[in-house]
Amino acid sequence: MSRRKVEERIGIMQLKNIKEFTKEWKAAMKAEVAQMTEVPKLLIIQVGDIEASNRYVRNKIKDCEEVGMMCDLLKFDEHITSEKLQDTIYEVQPEYDGVMVQLPLPKHINLDILNSIKGAKDVDGLTKNTKFNPCTPFGIMKYLEACEFDFTGKHAVVIGRSEIVGKPMARLLLEKNATVTTCHSKTKNLYHHLTQADLIVSAVGSPGIVNATVISPDVPIIDVGINFVEGKLIGDVWNPSERENITPVPGGVGLLTRCALLQNTLDAAKYYR
Ligand code: NAD
Repeated sequence: MSRRKVEERIGIMQLKNIKEFTKEWKAAMKAEVAQMTEVPKLLIIQVGDIEASNRYVRNKIKDCEEVGMMCDLLKFDEHITSEKLQDTIYEVQPEYDGVMVQLPLPKHINLDILNSIKGAKDVDGLTKNTKFNPCTPFGIMKYLEACEFDFTGKHAVVIGRSEIVGKPMARLLLEKNATVTTCHSKTKNLYHHLTQADLIVSAVGSPGIVNATVISPDVPIIDVGINFVEGKLIGDVWNPSERENITPVPGGVGLLTRCALLQNTLDAAKYYR
């Protein structure tokens, strides 16, 4: 399809700078928190000492401080049992607006323990009773809305069908009246779908699975993927520098996910305290 035809079909839509967007989002939350008589309180539960998890947890604590929220960390030895972890969650959660368990957990821990977090406090949006949307798709939706993406009737292609990214992403796009195609590991001819998209969200974790150079520059690409190749962090998109309208990795969707966790915690304090 010619570029002009694509522009006519989807309207020209340029993605905003994510760093600036998340700065504005945090400023808005900080202003709201400053008006509250009791600040929102987040509890992070971490098991073990995985370096990547330590880094994610440090960032979450820093984010909370930045917007004036309270954040506690409960860190357990990797040998803690599922029963002890579950008991702790039941015991401590009344003191907090939001409770989240940093993943991954050691293999011996039964993931059902996550369901001991009350739905109104599950700010990661991961359990069956949660009142919140999972942070990554929620952050992406807030961003696309801020970019004034007109969802109605647009063809969104989501690559990936995981419970925490792909499926909720497709659901949220559907709720905005987009026409959604979900592609996954068994999808045949991925590029047949990608070249018909008005919006692409890639959440696979496979470097280069989306070749940006064959997709019209007017089609925004949200790159969720996190891949380490030769010690370098890259997304799912091949050749991102040769084309505009792609979220960067690093400094892209990760920042949206972090802001979404703050927003869910703020909302937990506002609506469910
Ligand atoms: P996952 O492994 O649970 O799911 C990957 C999905 O990709 C699966 O549904 C699978 O069907 C699909 N897939 C695999 N091979 C495919 C192929 N060849 N063609 C089409 N689809 C294929 O992963 P996840 O938890 O959904 O995360 C996806 C990626 O996003 C990972 O790289 C992860 O690290 C990253 N991630 C980033 C953030 C962030 O904040 N930036 C948050 C969550 C996940």
